[in-house]
Amino acid sequence: MKTLIHPQVDSGIVATAEAFTGGSLQCQCTHKPVEVLVSAQTAHNHVCGCSKCWKPEGALFAQIAVVAKDKVSVTANADKLQIVDDSAAIQRHACTECGTHMYGRIENIGHPFYGLDFVHTELSKQQGWSAPEFAAFVSSIIESGTAPDSMTDVRNTLTDLGLAPYDCLSPALMDVIATHVASHK
Ligand SMILES: [Zn+2]
Ligand SMILES: [Zn+2]
Repeated sequence: MKTLIHPQVDSGIVATAEAFTGGSLQCQCTHKPVEVLVSAQTAHNHVCGCSKCWKPEGALFAQIAVVAKDKVSVTANADKLQIVDDSAAIQRHACTECGTHMYGRIENIGHPFYGLDFVHTELSKQQGWSAPEFAAFVSSIIESGTAPDSMTDVRNTLTDLGLAPYDCLSPALMDVIATHVASHK
């Protein structure tokens, strides 16, 4: 049986479009959906196995990217949004009706990723968003119920898709964090 990772990668990854300048994200409500305008291309798109990122129904991983927070604005039905966990480093603003996370924002100016919002570009009808590049927090899917003995299959599937599996973030992003820590010592 084929190991399914996420609908956006299982049947082939759509390539990043050059000169793509963003689009809008919509929650899954059929009535009065929340709309978020992302007016720039995203970066560092990846699939994430952590238990905090929003995943579509049945998916093993979430898919998430970052974009400058000043490029993110709620354009419709903002009153339906609520922060999932006030105490989390990333404040995920979710639709109270369908549960979809619309954007995650870091309010701590000392955080290495301050200034970046986390968004799920699969919520957009537009194509050409930055393509997923790697898999983060792979081992964490065990915490959400995946059998430990299926991890070899999961890692092999990710590798075959071109998504290098890491049990933290990618080396590039770990370097960003370490550089930030070093510069604040
Ligand atoms: Zn909704
Ligand atoms: Zn995550």
